[in-house]
Amino acid sequence: MPARPSSIAPLRYPRLTPPRRARRWPWLIVLALVAAAVYVTLRPKLWPVPPAPTTAPRRPLVGIIAGHREFDSGAVCDDGLREVDITTEVTRQVLDRLHARGYEAEMLSEYDDRLAGYRAAALVSLHVDSCMFDLSGYKVAGSSHGPAARDSALLVEALSGAYAAATGLGFHADTITVDMTNYHAFQRIDPRTPAAIIEMGFMSGDRTLLVAHSDQAARGIADGVLAFLSAKAEEQRTPTPSN
Ligand SMILES: [Zn+2]
Repeated sequence: MPARPSSIAPLRYPRLTPPRRARRWPWLIVLALVAAAVYVTLRPKLWPVPPAPTTAPRRPLVGIIAGHREFDSGAVCDDGLREVDITTEVTRQVLDRLHARGYEAEMLSEYDDRLAGYRAAALVSLHVDSCMFDLSGYKVAGSSHGPAARDSALLVEALSGAYAAATGLGFHADTITVDMTNYHAFQRIDPRTPAAIIEMGFMSGDRTLLVAHSDQAARGIADGVLAFLSAKAEEQRTPTPSN
C-alpha cells in the first residue's frame, strides 16, 4: 500500500447548497389566491351554470301502516276475527283511493324496516280496538315529536273530521292510550314527517262497519289524508306574512 503523498490537498467536495425555495412560497400563495379570485369572478360569465332540469316534482308520498301486519294478529275476537286482517284490507282500499287521485302511496308493515328515517308527506297507522267491551267509536292521535308536530296535529284534525263524516262514528277520547300518543313509529320516522295513528273503531260495537262496510272506513281515511295534503299545498301557495 503506497503511502499517501502529503502534498495532496484533501479533496474538497462542493458543498451542497439547498436550492433557494424558501423565499418563493409566499408568492406562490399570492398567485394562487389571485387565480382563484379571477376564476370565481369570471366563471359564471364564461361557463354559465345550466338551468335546473324541468322535470315535474315528485307527487307527495303517503305511507300507510297496516297495523300489526307482519308482526302479530293484533286483537282477536272469540270467533277468530283478527285486527290485522281488518287493517290490511282497509289499507289496500286507502291506497287504491290515493293512487286513483294520482298520489304515490305505499303499505308499510307494523315494524317495517323502511320506517327508520321514513320521509313522506304523511304517515298514517291504521289500527282497530278490541272485541272485549261493547264499545263504539274511533280516535286519532298525532306525533308530538320534532318539527312536524304542528303538521301532525293538522293531520289528526283532517283525519278526524273526514272519518267521522264517512263512517258516522263518534270520537272515543276516553280510550286513547300511551300506545297511541307515544306510538313506536313516531320515534323512528324522520322528524319532519307528519304522522298520526287512528283506531278505526271497536271490533265489538263497530264490527259491521269494519267488516261489511270497510269501504266507508277507507274513504274516511283517504279523504282525511287528501284534505291534509290540500291544506298543506294551499299553505305553501300563500305563505304566511312574517312578523
Ligand atoms: Zn292495534
